[in-house]
Amino acid sequence: MTNNQRLVKAKFPDLDWSFNYPLAESSYFKLGGLAEIYYKVKDQLLLKKILVFCEQERIPWKIVGGLSNLVIADAGVSGLVLQIAVRDFQVLSDQEDAVVFRAATGIKTSQLVSKAVNLGGTGLEGFIGVPGTLGGAIYNNAHYLKALIGDYVESVVAFHVKHNKEIIFSREMCKFAYEHSVFQEDPQLVILAATFSLRKDQPDVIKEKLLQAQEHRQQTQPLHLPSSGCIFRNPPNTDELRQLFPQFAQREFIPAGFLIDQAGLKNQQVGAIVVSDKHAAFLVNMSEELQLPAKAQDVKKLIAQIQLAVKKQFKVELKEEIFYLGQD
Ligand SMILES: Cc1cc2nc3c(=O)[nH]c(=O)nc-3n(C[C@H](O)[C@H](O)[C@H](O)COP(=O)(O)OP(=O)(O)OC[C@H]3O[C@@H](n4cnc5c(N)ncnc54)[C@H](O)[C@@H]3O)c2cc1C
Repeated sequence: MTNNQRLVKAKFPDLDWSFNYPLAESSYFKLGGLAEIYYKVKDQLLLKKILVFCEQERIPWKIVGGLSNLVIADAGVSGLVLQIAVRDFQVLSDQEDAVVFRAATGIKTSQLVSKAVNLGGTGLEGFIGVPGTLGGAIYNNAHYLKALIGDYVESVVAFHVKHNKEIIFSREMCKFAYEHSVFQEDPQLVILAATFSLRKDQPDVIKEKLLQAQEHRQQTQPLHLPSSGCIFRNPPNTDELRQLFPQFAQREFIPAGFLIDQAGLKNQQVGAIVVSDKHAAFLVNMSEELQLPAKAQDVKKLIAQIQLAVKKQFKVELKEEIFYLGQD
Protein backbone atom coordinates (compact mmCIF):
# COMPACT_ATOMS: atom_id res chain seq x y z
CA MET A 1 0.00 0.00 0.00
CA THR A 2 1.24 3.52 -0.76
CA ASN A 3 1.32 6.24 1.84
CA ASN A 4 -1.65 8.05 0.23
CA GLN A 5 -3.67 4.82 0.20
CA ARG A 6 -2.84 4.22 3.86
CA LEU A 7 -3.88 7.76 4.79
CA VAL A 8 -7.34 7.63 3.18
CA LYS A 9 -8.01 4.13 4.51
CA ALA A 10 -7.09 5.21 8.04
CA LYS A 11 -9.25 8.35 7.92
CA PHE A 12 -12.29 6.78 6.19
CA PRO A 13 -12.02 3.05 7.05
CA ASP A 14 -15.62 2.23 6.08
CA LEU A 15 -15.44 3.55 2.54
CA ASP A 16 -15.05 1.15 -0.35
CA TRP A 17 -11.83 2.63 -1.80
CA SER A 18 -10.38 1.19 -5.00
CA PHE A 19 -6.60 1.15 -5.04
CA ASN A 20 -4.67 0.91 -8.34
CA TYR A 21 -7.95 1.19 -10.20
CA PRO A 22 -7.83 0.68 -14.00
CA LEU A 23 -9.29 3.97 -15.28
CA ALA A 24 -9.49 2.69 -18.87
CA GLU A 25 -12.43 0.47 -17.86
CA SER A 26 -14.56 3.45 -16.85
CA SER A 27 -13.41 5.89 -19.53
CA TYR A 28 -15.23 6.34 -22.83
CA PHE A 29 -11.92 6.25 -24.73
CA LYS A 30 -11.02 2.92 -23.06
CA LEU A 31 -7.42 3.86 -22.45
CA GLY A 32 -5.14 5.16 -19.71
CA GLY A 33 -3.37 3.74 -16.67
CA LEU A 34 -4.20 3.17 -13.02
CA ALA A 35 -5.53 5.59 -10.43
CA GLU A 36 -3.57 5.28 -7.20
CA ILE A 37 -6.89 5.79 -5.37
CA TYR A 38 -10.36 5.84 -6.91
CA TYR A 39 -13.68 6.49 -5.25
CA LYS A 40 -17.19 7.07 -6.56
CA VAL A 41 -18.88 9.48 -4.18
CA LYS A 42 -22.69 9.66 -3.92
CA ASP A 43 -23.02 12.04 -1.01
CA GLN A 44 -22.23 15.76 -1.15
CA LEU A 45 -21.14 16.11 2.49
CA LEU A 46 -18.78 13.16 2.18
CA LEU A 47 -17.41 14.58 -1.07
CA LYS A 48 -16.41 17.77 0.70
CA LYS A 49 -14.92 15.92 3.69
CA ILE A 50 -12.76 13.73 1.44
CA LEU A 51 -11.48 16.69 -0.56
CA VAL A 52 -10.68 18.82 2.48
CA PHE A 53 -8.83 15.86 4.00
CA CYS A 54 -6.80 15.32 0.82
CA GLU A 55 -5.95 19.00 0.70
CA GLN A 56 -4.78 18.95 4.33
CA GLU A 57 -2.72 15.81 3.81
CA ARG A 58 -1.35 17.02 0.46
CA ILE A 59 -2.83 14.03 -1.37
CA PRO A 60 -3.27 15.15 -4.99
CA TRP A 61 -6.90 14.89 -6.10
CA LYS A 62 -8.79 15.14 -9.39
CA ILE A 63 -12.51 15.25 -10.08
CA VAL A 64 -14.15 13.24 -12.84
CA GLY A 65 -17.75 12.81 -13.91
CA GLY A 66 -18.45 10.36 -16.74
CA LEU A 67 -14.83 10.24 -18.04
CA SER A 68 -16.06 11.03 -21.55
CA ASN A 69 -13.94 14.11 -22.26
CA LEU A 70 -10.57 12.87 -21.10
CA VAL A 71 -7.31 11.47 -22.37
CA ILE A 72 -5.92 9.57 -19.38
CA ALA A 73 -2.14 9.14 -19.16
CA ASP A 74 -0.71 5.67 -19.78
CA ALA A 75 1.29 6.11 -16.57
CA GLY A 76 -1.95 6.65 -14.67
CA VAL A 77 -2.81 9.20 -12.00
CA SER A 78 -1.21 9.57 -8.61
CA GLY A 79 -3.36 10.52 -5.65
CA LEU A 80 -7.15 10.38 -5.64
CA VAL A 81 -9.46 10.32 -8.65
CA LEU A 82 -12.88 11.17 -7.25
CA GLN A 83 -15.85 10.39 -9.45
CA ILE A 84 -18.88 12.50 -8.61
CA ALA A 85 -22.11 10.49 -8.61
CA VAL A 86 -24.31 12.77 -6.47
CA ARG A 87 -27.55 12.88 -8.47
CA ASP A 88 -30.15 14.87 -6.47
CA PHE A 89 -32.79 16.63 -8.56
CA GLN A 90 -35.30 19.16 -7.31
CA VAL A 91 -37.99 21.22 -9.03
CA LEU A 92 -37.89 24.74 -7.59
CA SER A 93 -40.78 26.25 -9.52
CA ASP A 94 -43.22 24.85 -12.08
CA GLN A 95 -45.36 27.52 -13.75
CA GLU A 96 -47.52 27.39 -16.85
CA ASP A 97 -44.83 28.95 -19.06
CA ALA A 98 -41.55 28.19 -17.27
CA VAL A 99 -39.85 25.66 -15.05
CA VAL A 100 -36.87 26.05 -12.73
CA PHE A 101 -34.95 23.08 -11.35
CA ARG A 102 -31.71 22.30 -9.60
CA ALA A 103 -29.57 19.22 -10.19
CA ALA A 104 -26.47 17.87 -8.49
CA THR A 105 -23.63 17.54 -10.97
CA GLY A 106 -23.27 13.76 -10.80
CA ILE A 107 -26.52 13.38 -12.71
CA LYS A 108 -26.00 12.06 -16.23
CA THR A 109 -26.52 14.80 -18.80
CA SER A 110 -28.97 12.67 -20.81
CA GLN A 111 -30.95 11.96 -17.62
CA LEU A 112 -31.11 15.69 -16.87
CA VAL A 113 -32.43 16.35 -20.38
CA SER A 114 -35.11 13.64 -19.98
CA LYS A 115 -36.24 15.17 -16.68
CA ALA A 116 -36.40 18.64 -18.25
CA VAL A 117 -38.42 17.29 -21.17
CA ASN A 118 -40.83 15.48 -18.84
CA LEU A 119 -41.43 18.79 -17.07
CA GLY A 120 -42.24 20.44 -20.41
CA GLY A 121 -39.09 22.59 -20.43
CA THR A 122 -37.37 23.34 -23.72
CA GLY A 123 -33.76 24.24 -24.59
CA LEU A 124 -31.73 21.24 -23.47
CA GLU A 125 -33.01 18.75 -26.10
CA GLY A 126 -29.80 18.94 -28.18
CA PHE A 127 -27.75 17.69 -25.24
CA ILE A 128 -29.64 14.37 -25.07
CA GLY A 129 -26.73 12.41 -26.54
CA VAL A 130 -23.90 14.16 -24.72
CA PRO A 131 -22.24 11.42 -22.65
CA GLY A 132 -21.05 12.03 -19.11
CA THR A 133 -22.39 14.10 -16.27
CA LEU A 134 -23.71 17.58 -15.70
CA GLY A 135 -20.43 18.47 -13.92
CA GLY A 136 -18.40 17.79 -17.06
CA ALA A 137 -20.99 19.59 -19.20
CA ILE A 138 -20.81 22.74 -17.04
CA TYR A 139 -17.01 22.56 -16.86
CA ASN A 140 -16.57 22.69 -20.66
CA ASN A 141 -19.90 24.47 -21.35
CA ALA A 142 -21.10 21.57 -23.51
CA HIS A 143 -22.31 22.50 -26.96
CA TYR A 144 -24.68 21.09 -29.51
CA LEU A 145 -24.56 22.82 -32.91
CA LYS A 146 -24.91 26.48 -31.88
CA ALA A 147 -26.45 25.82 -28.45
CA LEU A 148 -24.34 26.07 -25.29
CA ILE A 149 -25.57 24.51 -22.06
CA GLY A 150 -24.53 27.63 -20.13
CA ASP A 151 -27.24 29.61 -21.93
CA TYR A 152 -29.84 27.77 -19.86
CA VAL A 153 -28.07 27.92 -16.52
CA GLU A 154 -29.33 30.33 -13.90
CA SER A 155 -26.64 29.68 -11.29
CA VAL A 156 -24.02 27.15 -10.23
CA VAL A 157 -22.90 26.10 -6.77
CA ALA A 158 -19.24 25.17 -6.49
CA PHE A 159 -17.05 24.13 -3.58
CA HIS A 160 -13.70 25.82 -3.15
CA VAL A 161 -11.62 23.10 -1.55
CA LYS A 162 -8.75 25.17 -0.16
CA HIS A 163 -11.15 27.71 1.36
CA ASN A 164 -13.55 24.93 2.46
CA LYS A 165 -16.44 27.05 1.27
CA GLU A 166 -19.41 26.87 -1.12
CA ILE A 167 -19.69 29.69 -3.66
CA ILE A 168 -22.77 30.55 -5.72
CA PHE A 169 -21.95 31.66 -9.25
CA SER A 170 -24.52 33.61 -11.24
CA ARG A 171 -24.56 32.83 -14.97
CA GLU A 172 -22.38 35.92 -15.62
CA MET A 173 -19.85 34.84 -12.99
CA CYS A 174 -19.58 31.45 -14.72
CA LYS A 175 -17.94 33.22 -17.73
CA PHE A 176 -19.54 30.75 -20.12
CA ALA A 177 -18.14 30.91 -23.66
CA TYR A 178 -17.52 28.35 -26.38
CA GLU A 179 -15.66 25.50 -24.62
CA HIS A 180 -15.04 27.66 -21.57
CA SER A 181 -16.29 28.31 -18.05
CA VAL A 182 -14.72 29.96 -15.01
CA PHE A 183 -14.36 26.50 -13.46
CA GLN A 184 -11.46 25.77 -15.83
CA GLU A 185 -9.60 28.74 -14.36
CA ASP A 186 -9.30 27.48 -10.78
CA PRO A 187 -8.50 23.78 -10.13
CA GLN A 188 -9.71 24.22 -6.53
CA LEU A 189 -13.32 24.65 -7.70
CA VAL A 190 -15.55 21.59 -7.69
CA ILE A 191 -18.94 22.04 -9.30
CA LEU A 192 -21.67 20.71 -7.01
CA ALA A 193 -25.01 21.71 -8.53
CA ALA A 194 -26.62 23.88 -11.18
CA THR A 195 -29.99 25.59 -11.43
CA PHE A 196 -31.70 25.76 -14.82
CA SER A 197 -34.53 28.02 -15.91
CA LEU A 198 -36.39 26.82 -18.99
CA ARG A 199 -39.27 28.15 -21.02
CA LYS A 200 -42.08 25.67 -21.62
CA ASP A 201 -43.24 24.45 -25.02
CA GLN A 202 -45.68 21.97 -26.55
CA PRO A 203 -44.72 18.31 -25.84
CA ASP A 204 -44.82 17.38 -29.55
CA VAL A 205 -42.48 20.27 -30.47
CA ILE A 206 -40.04 19.22 -27.74
CA LYS A 207 -40.24 15.58 -28.80
CA GLU A 208 -39.45 16.51 -32.39
CA LYS A 209 -36.35 18.48 -31.31
CA LEU A 210 -35.24 15.51 -29.23
CA LEU A 211 -35.62 13.11 -32.15
CA GLN A 212 -33.78 15.45 -34.52
CA ALA A 213 -30.85 15.73 -32.11
CA GLN A 214 -30.67 11.95 -31.69
CA GLU A 215 -30.77 11.36 -35.44
CA HIS A 216 -28.17 14.05 -36.14
CA ARG A 217 -25.80 12.41 -33.65
CA GLN A 218 -26.35 8.93 -35.10
CA GLN A 219 -25.70 10.20 -38.62
CA THR A 220 -22.61 12.28 -37.87
CA GLN A 221 -20.71 10.56 -35.05
CA PRO A 222 -18.88 7.18 -34.88
CA LEU A 223 -20.81 6.06 -31.82
CA HIS A 224 -19.93 2.36 -32.21
CA LEU A 225 -16.25 2.91 -31.29
CA PRO A 226 -14.63 4.15 -28.06
CA SER A 227 -13.62 7.81 -28.23
CA SER A 228 -13.65 11.03 -26.25
CA GLY A 229 -15.88 12.78 -28.77
CA CYS A 230 -14.43 15.70 -30.74
CA ILE A 231 -10.76 16.05 -29.88
CA PHE A 232 -10.46 19.57 -31.31
CA ARG A 233 -12.35 22.82 -30.81
CA ASN A 234 -13.76 24.45 -33.90
CA PRO A 235 -11.28 27.26 -34.69
CA PRO A 236 -12.44 30.85 -35.29
CA ASN A 237 -13.15 31.62 -38.93
CA THR A 238 -10.75 33.92 -40.82
CA ASP A 239 -10.92 35.97 -44.04
CA GLU A 240 -8.62 33.45 -45.69
CA LEU A 241 -10.80 30.51 -44.64
CA ARG A 242 -13.94 32.37 -45.74
CA GLN A 243 -12.44 32.74 -49.22
CA LEU A 244 -11.37 29.11 -49.35
CA PHE A 245 -14.65 27.75 -47.97
CA PRO A 246 -17.50 30.14 -48.80
CA GLN A 247 -20.03 27.55 -47.59
CA PHE A 248 -18.94 28.46 -44.02
CA ALA A 249 -18.54 32.22 -44.67
CA GLN A 250 -21.37 33.15 -42.32
CA ARG A 251 -20.06 31.05 -39.45
CA GLU A 252 -18.05 32.42 -36.53
CA PHE A 253 -16.23 29.09 -36.17
CA ILE A 254 -15.24 26.62 -38.87
CA PRO A 255 -15.69 22.88 -38.16
CA ALA A 256 -12.35 21.34 -37.11
CA GLY A 257 -13.47 18.01 -38.59
CA PHE A 258 -13.97 19.64 -42.00
CA LEU A 259 -10.41 21.07 -42.01
CA ILE A 260 -8.96 17.72 -40.94
CA ASP A 261 -10.88 16.00 -43.72
CA GLN A 262 -9.71 18.63 -46.26
CA ALA A 263 -6.13 18.02 -45.13
CA GLY A 264 -6.63 14.38 -46.18
CA LEU A 265 -6.25 12.97 -42.70
CA LYS A 266 -9.29 10.70 -42.41
CA ASN A 267 -8.17 7.18 -41.41
CA GLN A 268 -4.70 8.45 -40.43
CA GLN A 269 -3.47 6.15 -37.68
CA VAL A 270 -0.96 5.93 -34.88
CA GLY A 271 -1.04 2.53 -33.20
CA ALA A 272 -4.66 1.72 -32.39
CA ILE A 273 -5.83 5.35 -32.60
CA VAL A 274 -7.44 6.35 -35.87
CA VAL A 275 -8.97 9.52 -37.34
CA SER A 276 -12.64 8.59 -37.81
CA ASP A 277 -13.83 8.49 -41.41
CA LYS A 278 -17.32 9.46 -40.22
CA HIS A 279 -16.30 12.59 -38.27
CA ALA A 280 -12.67 13.63 -38.68
CA ALA A 281 -12.50 15.56 -35.38
CA PHE A 282 -13.13 12.24 -33.58
CA LEU A 283 -10.15 10.00 -32.85
CA VAL A 284 -11.41 6.47 -32.32
CA ASN A 285 -9.86 3.62 -30.38
CA MET A 286 -9.66 0.59 -32.70
CA SER A 287 -7.67 -1.52 -30.30
CA GLU A 288 -10.03 -4.50 -30.57
CA GLU A 289 -10.26 -4.45 -34.38
CA LEU A 290 -6.50 -3.96 -34.86
CA GLN A 291 -5.41 -6.16 -31.94
CA LEU A 292 -3.12 -3.40 -30.69
CA PRO A 293 -2.92 -1.80 -27.24
CA ALA A 294 -4.60 1.62 -26.99
CA LYS A 295 -2.20 4.25 -25.72
CA ALA A 296 -2.59 7.86 -24.67
CA GLN A 297 0.88 8.46 -26.14
CA ASP A 298 -0.48 7.48 -29.56
CA VAL A 299 -3.45 9.84 -29.13
CA LYS A 300 -0.97 12.65 -28.42
CA LYS A 301 1.19 11.74 -31.41
CA LEU A 302 -1.81 11.69 -33.72
CA ILE A 303 -3.04 15.01 -32.31
CA ALA A 304 0.40 16.53 -33.01
CA GLN A 305 0.41 15.17 -36.58
CA ILE A 306 -3.05 16.61 -37.25
CA GLN A 307 -2.15 19.99 -35.76
CA LEU A 308 0.98 20.17 -37.90
CA ALA A 309 -0.78 19.20 -41.13
CA VAL A 310 -3.71 21.61 -40.61
CA LYS A 311 -1.35 24.45 -39.67
CA LYS A 312 0.76 23.82 -42.77
CA GLN A 313 -2.21 23.67 -45.11
CA PHE A 314 -4.60 26.29 -43.68
CA LYS A 315 -2.47 28.31 -41.19
CA VAL A 316 -4.91 27.30 -38.48
CA GLU A 317 -3.87 26.21 -34.98
CA LEU A 318 -6.19 23.46 -33.81
CA LYS A 319 -6.62 23.41 -30.04
CA GLU A 320 -7.74 20.40 -28.02
CA GLU A 321 -11.28 20.22 -26.71
CA ILE A 322 -10.50 17.23 -24.47
CA PHE A 323 -8.77 17.48 -21.10
CA TYR A 324 -5.72 15.51 -20.01
CA LEU A 325 -5.66 13.54 -16.78
CA GLY A 326 -2.48 12.21 -15.22
CA GLN A 327 1.20 12.61 -15.84
CA ASP A 328 2.82 11.33 -19.03
C1 LIG B 1 -19.44 10.06 -28.41
C2 LIG B 1 -19.23 11.38 -27.73
C3 LIG B 1 -19.99 12.46 -28.11
C4 LIG B 1 -19.80 13.72 -27.49
N1 LIG B 1 -20.59 14.78 -27.87
C5 LIG B 1 -20.41 15.97 -27.29
C6 LIG B 1 -21.23 17.11 -27.67
O1 LIG B 1 -22.12 17.01 -28.50
N2 LIG B 1 -21.01 18.30 -27.05
C7 LIG B 1 -20.04 18.43 -26.09
O2 LIG B 1 -19.87 19.55 -25.58
N3 LIG B 1 -19.26 17.40 -25.72
C8 LIG B 1 -19.43 16.18 -26.28
N4 LIG B 1 -18.65 15.12 -25.88
C9 LIG B 1 -17.61 15.31 -24.86
C10 LIG B 1 -18.08 15.01 -23.41
O3 LIG B 1 -19.02 13.96 -23.41
C11 LIG B 1 -18.72 16.21 -22.75
O4 LIG B 1 -17.84 17.29 -22.73
C12 LIG B 1 -19.21 15.91 -21.32
O5 LIG B 1 -19.95 17.00 -20.88
C13 LIG B 1 -18.08 15.61 -20.35
O6 LIG B 1 -18.67 15.20 -19.13
P1 LIG B 1 -17.99 14.12 -18.18
O7 LIG B 1 -18.82 14.04 -16.95
O8 LIG B 1 -17.75 12.86 -18.89
O9 LIG B 1 -16.60 14.84 -17.85
P2 LIG B 1 -15.21 14.11 -17.57
O10 LIG B 1 -14.69 13.57 -18.85
O11 LIG B 1 -15.33 13.18 -16.44
O12 LIG B 1 -14.31 15.35 -17.14
C14 LIG B 1 -13.98 16.36 -18.07
C15 LIG B 1 -13.38 17.54 -17.32
O13 LIG B 1 -14.39 18.13 -16.49
C16 LIG B 1 -13.94 18.21 -15.15
N5 LIG B 1 -15.11 17.98 -14.28
C17 LIG B 1 -16.07 17.05 -14.40
N6 LIG B 1 -16.98 17.16 -13.42
C18 LIG B 1 -16.58 18.20 -12.65
C19 LIG B 1 -17.10 18.81 -11.48
N7 LIG B 1 -18.22 18.40 -10.89
N8 LIG B 1 -16.40 19.86 -10.94
C20 LIG B 1 -15.26 20.30 -11.52
N9 LIG B 1 -14.74 19.77 -12.65
C21 LIG B 1 -15.39 18.72 -13.20
C22 LIG B 1 -12.90 17.11 -15.01
O14 LIG B 1 -11.98 17.39 -13.97
C23 LIG B 1 -12.24 17.14 -16.39
O15 LIG B 1 -11.23 18.12 -16.44
C24 LIG B 1 -18.83 13.86 -26.48
C25 LIG B 1 -18.06 12.74 -26.09
C26 LIG B 1 -18.26 11.51 -26.70
C27 LIG B 1 -17.46 10.32 -26.25
